[in-house]
Amino acid sequence: MGLFERVFRGSDEMFAKAEADVNALVAELGADAPMTMPETAYFLACVYAYLGKKVTTVGELQAALADVKAMMLREPRTHSIFSSGVGTAIAAELIEACKYARTPTPYEGTAYHGHFTDAEVRELGVPLVTRDIPGFVVMIGPAPSDEEAVETIKGYQSRGIFVFLIGGIIEQAVRMGVSMGFPVRVVPVGEDIWAVGHVISLVVRASFIFGAIEPGDYDAFMDYSMDRIFAFVNAYAPVNDITVACGAGAIKMGFPVITNDTNDMWAVPKSLIIHTDTKDWIETSLEARDIKIKVTNIDIPVAFSSAFEGEIIRKADMQIEADGSRVDCFELVRSKEAHEIEDHAILLDGPDFDEVPVGSKISFTITAEVAGKSMQSDFEPVMERKIHNFFNCIEGIMHTGQRDMIRVRVSKAAFEAGFRARHLGEVLYAKIKSEFDTVVDKCQVKICTVAEKNKDLRAQANEVFDARDERLKTLTDESVEVFYTCILCQAFSPSHVCIVTPERLGLCGAVSWLDAKATNELDPNGPCQVVTKTRCLDERIGRYEDVNEAVQQYSHGALEQVTLYSILEDPMTSCGCFECICGIEPFSNGVVITNREHAGMTPLGMTFSEMASMTGGGVQTPGFMGHGKHFIYSKKFMKAEGGLGRIVWLPKALKEQVRDRLNESAKELYGIDNFADMIGDETVTEDAEELLNFLTEHNHPVLGMDPLL
Ligand code: SF4
Ligand code: ZN
Repeated sequence: MGLFERVFRGSDEMFAKAEADVNALVAELGADAPMTMPETAYFLACVYAYLGKKVTTVGELQAALADVKAMMLREPRTHSIFSSGVGTAIAAELIEACKYARTPTPYEGTAYHGHFTDAEVRELGVPLVTRDIPGFVVMIGPAPSDEEAVETIKGYQSRGIFVFLIGGIIEQAVRMGVSMGFPVRVVPVGEDIWAVGHVISLVVRASFIFGAIEPGDYDAFMDYSMDRIFAFVNAYAPVNDITVACGAGAIKMGFPVITNDTNDMWAVPKSLIIHTDTKDWIETSLEARDIKIKVTNIDIPVAFSSAFEGEIIRKADMQIEADGSRVDCFELVRSKEAHEIEDHAILLDGPDFDEVPVGSKISFTITAEVAGKSMQSDFEPVMERKIHNFFNCIEGIMHTGQRDMIRVRVSKAAFEAGFRARHLGEVLYAKIKSEFDTVVDKCQVKICTVAEKNKDLRAQANEVFDARDERLKTLTDESVEVFYTCILCQAFSPSHVCIVTPERLGLCGAVSWLDAKATNELDPNGPCQVVTKTRCLDERIGRYEDVNEAVQQYSHGALEQVTLYSILEDPMTSCGCFECICGIEPFSNGVVITNREHAGMTPLGMTFSEMASMTGGGVQTPGFMGHGKHFIYSKKFMKAEGGLGRIVWLPKALKEQVRDRLNESAKELYGIDNFADMIGDETVTEDAEELLNFLTEHNHPVLGMDPLL
């Protein structure tokens, strides 16, 4: 039997399973029963993407079967096996959907993740553009041994590759105690091969969200995944026919398949790779998908990878902790004269981690001193804020907070592997030198764990922090000479451009004006380019001829003009990785804001995912706007429409995060106190009419503003 027959047999099998499951579902729930996948605005995403059809009922699910069947062509041509392969993937989605038609949480209490939410897909935006996640692997197991399974998973993880596990390899990982979950980027998707439906659903939603591809534009989806989604498949022998059929679909999407199954397979260069030595699959796979990994060699006894960023260290697993809320701690980056610095010196003053009892809360301060001809003090906070990300990438280290309110936990496992205080210095040194190479020539790190000394050091550090805050306060859109573009997200949203100003950070929340300035300095031909602001056309809404020229140029003509301060008139576009989204609430003439972390409903009758699906892909959508969290309390937030006094509803947790700054700005803009208390949240109501009553009771300023529309 040849490869063609294997694909056809496999797709028949998958289809038969889908047909049986869907028909059983119809018999059980009836054709009119609703069919929804949790927390997504894209219905059954594969059906919606490839076939252009919205499935909202069990009956529509059944109707999709015929379309899938039609894709499963049977002429012995390459085109047919690819089409059948994609049909197989959609059939897999239908099988999984049947479970979700019965309950929104079919995998509760199991090791399996199942369906990805839109918020999870969006979370991938920034790490993908920064190449923190250079690619995705779908491992279909079991691997030849438990040890090899772990070794390969960890090998991918340490290279930043996002790992999806399907089948027996999950049990192997569980047996070996591998920590898994979306935050650590190793996801046990499901037990059966139809779990691939969830992975393909994630891929097509990334194409919708970041690429703004229209439902039903099959070829555009194929091109997008081929060009922009760096995924590949590792399928361990024995590979059954269904998996072979799924593999054909993967190859059509541009994802090479690497296998050690030699049974009726034939190799296709760069697409189907038969490699019997499974031990070097990582290299083989990365090469096949053309993924280059940027490595920084850091001299530490544990792994370093962005995959560990989401790692949580519980008290019981903790060796020691620096806790800035209890004892004197801080982290600081300072610029110095070159002669004051001995490059790569790591100086520890005080007891090391092995000289204090397990479970201690130690006083801990760390200062990176840097020097370089192009170094500016404005870059200090930019580097300093990266410490959070640098430390979290260390396996067995957890970092939260900033400045003198940090908390750093070292796990027992990392300690036992030999991790000591100086290793934090090594990481800081290596990362600062590699990421800021064009501005930092020399760097040394000073660590102090002596409580008495840290008291004074902290007081000195606070003077630096205060001086910086003063400087930040003077940074307004009016006070600076230039703005910056950011086009990092063009890797996924080809026509999207962010204009970053002091009072409006990039919508991802990760790029402030200072960050953009530093990026421009570090890489003059990179994503952040200077935008002059000499030709203002309308100050009220922030319309500049210079800005328009910049967006025309950097969107390659896709965008004519944007304003900086309006949500209605030529608003800035969104890519897909925004932290928050706001949308007009017509009853109150205000806007509702929600954020990625908030899964619940809003008074617009839409969740974050649904609101988010109204904008994205670099297209202008008046009335909806993606933005960063810090923009909420900016005096430029919707300035054209009256400012942040338009905000009528925020998720409670987000409101608490921005409360103080929001109150401060409202006091300055409108002279009102405690503005945050006038804003509704989910504990007040999720209903637009009730919200209006609440606003009236609290004398919300929006009630005195002009109608928006
Ligand atoms: Fe993407 Fe804009 Fe953030 Fe740059 S600032 S990374 S373009 S969202
Ligand atoms: Zn983006």
